[in-house]
Amino acid sequence: MAYRDNTKVVHIGDRVIGGGNPILIQSMTNTRTEDVEGTVAQIKRLEEAGCDIIRCTVPNIEAAKALGEIKKQIHIPLVADIHFDYKMAIAAMENGADKIRINPGNIGSKDRIAAVVSCAKERNIPIRVGVNSGSLEKNLVEKYHGVTAEGLVESAIDKVGIIEDLGYDNMVVSIKSSNVMLCVKAHELLAKQCKYPLHVGITEAGTVYGGNIKSSVGLGIILNEGIGDTIRVSLSGDPVEEIKTAKMILRTLDIRKGGIEVVSCPTCGRTRIDLIGLANQVETMVQKYPLDIKVAVMGCAVNGPGEAKEADIGIAGGDGEGLLIKHGEIIKKVPEDQLLAVLKEELDAWPSND
Ligand code: SF4
Repeated sequence: MAYRDNTKVVHIGDRVIGGGNPILIQSMTNTRTEDVEGTVAQIKRLEEAGCDIIRCTVPNIEAAKALGEIKKQIHIPLVADIHFDYKMAIAAMENGADKIRINPGNIGSKDRIAAVVSCAKERNIPIRVGVNSGSLEKNLVEKYHGVTAEGLVESAIDKVGIIEDLGYDNMVVSIKSSNVMLCVKAHELLAKQCKYPLHVGITEAGTVYGGNIKSSVGLGIILNEGIGDTIRVSLSGDPVEEIKTAKMILRTLDIRKGGIEVVSCPTCGRTRIDLIGLANQVETMVQKYPLDIKVAVMGCAVNGPGEAKEADIGIAGGDGEGLLIKHGEIIKKVPEDQLLAVLKEELDAWPSND
């Protein structure tokens, strides 16, 4: 049985994580939260891409007040990200945050943490206790001779204990590091000791290229070990890319169904069409279809149909034209400039998997 089957069930707005519920995908806006219009526009793009839960930073009271207006205009739970100022955590909850993310290590004294917990308790708002390798307490760095998985886990368990001692257990826990294998080890240790749902991600993973690889390796290992109830891919890029990557990771691991999988050939000396351009266009185009099928985009008619056999539908390039293939059967020839449109027509008419 996977660790995630036994974690506590936590409600975040109208969504549920933990206890074996589906793994939800999160992202974080990179607009100024006070800019309600810009923030809502970005959240709507993320919702459309498949984001289940969104987090906004709340560095000041204007941002906290903006949460209420943002919430009215979006359709997914809104999480407030708090650092340093416990008053912002309280203001965020008063303005409708569905969850708050705090690092108790930088919120300050126990009294301040108690004030935050008391406000959360009144409203039954979950708290994500986040520990980052960059802010690991000095005594734990010294105890473990550096930033280690053991130190991160001890820090997280300590923080969880503080909130439990205040009589609250509506929690999600995260430990993050940009060091992938350290992160993996820390999750393996934490999962054995923590009953709360785990929010998993490789923090500060890097650019879309490097970050995708690090996130895929790290999250791939952790999720495949049955650990993790909600995930965030963290990229220096458009947050929509984070959602696309997260969905691809879950689908590749066979954890989450749905969405079209695109397979495409690497091209070779036989390729006579702009296969690379076409594959990228197809990948973007299929994002909006809730179909659970495989689409092949192959470079040539010699190997294309054969290689596309496994796919539900595919196109195989020729010289200025291509073939439309369904379940390995050639359906018709299509001029190159119409291949994308013909594929779109087919997908529009494709019966739903439901
Ligand atoms: S499908 Fe055709 S073009 Fe693509 S790699 Fe294979 S042989 Fe080359």
